[in-house]
Amino acid sequence: MSFISVENLSLSFGNHEVLKDISFQIEEGELITLLGPSGCGKSTLLRVIAGLEVFQEGNLFLEEDDISNTLPRDRNVGMVFQNYALFPNMTIFENIAFGLTLKKLPKDEIHREVMRVVRLVNLEDKIDHYPHQLSGGQQQRTSLARSLVTKPKVLLLDEPLSALDAKIRKQLQVDIRELQKTLGITMIFVTHDQEEAMILSDRVFVMSEGKIVQSATPADLYAQPKNQFVASFIGNYN
Ligand code: ADP
Ligand code: MG
Repeated sequence: MSFISVENLSLSFGNHEVLKDISFQIEEGELITLLGPSGCGKSTLLRVIAGLEVFQEGNLFLEEDDISNTLPRDRNVGMVFQNYALFPNMTIFENIAFGLTLKKLPKDEIHREVMRVVRLVNLEDKIDHYPHQLSGGQQQRTSLARSLVTKPKVLLLDEPLSALDAKIRKQLQVDIRELQKTLGITMIFVTHDQEEAMILSDRVFVMSEGKIVQSATPADLYAQPKNQFVASFIGNYN
């Protein structure tokens, strides 16, 4: 069985069906992007995997376990958001340590684990600073580190680079991909930016109106778009 497996999953808010009979598999260590226009259901699908939304139909497996009904904290899934969501009154060190502090780990272990991820995201010289003293890119590195410090099985990233300007964004794309390969961690990365999806991913899941219309490597998406929607969505950047 695959690392993550979604079978015939459907979700409605009231009578609005937002995810429609979605099925896919993800292997351990893959970087998958969910690519699609605003409102197609990308964030909802991520939130389902994180355990933050209840769905009506289907099943969700992580490492062979049916996690459809488990609590978010029991899933060992990390999440990074567009708006960083850091605590303004805590230092970078304290922000990153937060998840470990909650677990009441010994101080020296917390220090060791925080420093491990701080190095991964190149923030060694910023640990005593506060979020407002950092650039947007550095704040997003902090939230990456904060998610990684608990060693999640899967890292979910919901448009993490959308608030950043082009240059910093390009650098972080490269850095995230490198980090992902170094750790061998499975990532699901949401974006509405075709170019970002093409650069980053092992495979892209193209979404439209609550469905995955095609899942393929970037090269195959270009060479063989399944329909007009995919062709125009993929071809639509320069
Ligand atoms: P995306 O991330 O691709 O922009 P979303 O997953 O946020 O899309 O939203 C998909 C659809 O579900 C949209 O029509 C949105 O308005 C709707 N939606 C999202 N969350 C809720 C909610 N909590 N209640 C009702 N409708 C929602
Ligand atoms: Mg969204």
